[in-house]
Amino acid sequence: MPEARTLEARSLEARKVVKNLRAYHPPLAGRQGLRLDFNESTIGCSPRVLARLRSLDAELLARYPEREPAEREVAGFLGLDPAQVLLTNGVDEAIHLLCCTYLEAGDEALIVVPTFAMYAIFAQAEGALVTEILAGEDFAFPVDAVLAHLNSRTRLISIANPNNPTGGAVSSDVLLRIAEAAPQAALLVDEAYFEFHGETLLDRTAQLPNLFVARTFSKAYGLAGLRIGILAGNVQQMAMVRRVASPYSVNAVALAVLPDALEDQAYVEQYAAEVRLNRAQLERELDQLGLRYWPSRANFVLARIGPKHAELVQALRRRGILVRSRHTDPGCEGSVRFTVGSDEHTRMLITALRDVIEELGLPSEVQA
Ligand code: PMP
Repeated sequence: MPEARTLEARSLEARKVVKNLRAYHPPLAGRQGLRLDFNESTIGCSPRVLARLRSLDAELLARYPEREPAEREVAGFLGLDPAQVLLTNGVDEAIHLLCCTYLEAGDEALIVVPTFAMYAIFAQAEGALVTEILAGEDFAFPVDAVLAHLNSRTRLISIANPNNPTGGAVSSDVLLRIAEAAPQAALLVDEAYFEFHGETLLDRTAQLPNLFVARTFSKAYGLAGLRIGILAGNVQQMAMVRRVASPYSVNAVALAVLPDALEDQAYVEQYAAEVRLNRAQLERELDQLGLRYWPSRANFVLARIGPKHAELVQALRRRGILVRSRHTDPGCEGSVRFTVGSDEHTRMLITALRDVIEELGLPSEVQA
């Protein structure tokens, strides 16, 4: 049957690197209750943003979105040249665009694990080889190992600062050392959790041609559903990144509310301050409960629960609180990540945690 064979040979096949990708399905279904599983804001966006949303009309939706005015506004807010700033469909798109711009098949993309999953996925989709360097003791940033792994094929280094899921941060000095040691590679410093940490490398992007900084409106601004992020870099490099970006990837609704989101800094700062206090409170509570955790600079805390990690997640879910097991992340066996939110939501978490820990007979299992 030569005809059938011909047809078979012509059947549509995904690229080999795509077939080899592991499907990434964040557990988004059935998220009823207090959402402390995705590091979102627990109180939502500023009332000014909501008021603007309610005022939008059909005309806005009928037009293709124009990104540049909002980019100028964001650049002004960040103290950057507008040519340095690209608004993206969340940090996810920023990562994707850097992979498209800089990675040839066979190039190396370097990450320190555990970390955010999308760095590896988008790099692999370009046919790049992902070099995973395991973090050190207590997730210490392995700067020497990173420097030792750099080579002429290293073309992208992605570092979340603070990191997800550990909450740990890397100093600016270390990041700059890496940028200088790998001039042939793009260094992405993903500052998705910047508002809870306070340190940034944004002001170095103009000078350092291989440094990129990403920010998001998904966390402190309470706008994960709108999908807006920022990619900032050197003007010449950003011109290259823009070539692979869709002009319309940030939707008109997101662009329309963005100025209000930025202008209501009081709202964002108040929430971030509340989260920082609650983070310290949760850490104290975990100490008192005898659970091991890693001090965090973000809006979540990773704690080692031990063999009963899945039971703890289920027991909290029965009490209406969603948290995320990170058990399968490298070095995170038995660990659960708790998003930190408002005062009220942190109180609810702590009350439920005390109950559940007693119910499960923890932490004796951890120490065993
Ligand atoms: N970077 C890090 C480190 C994250 O943890 C997340 C979300 N979990 C993102 C990026 C994705 O952000 P966005 O919603 O802007 O795509």
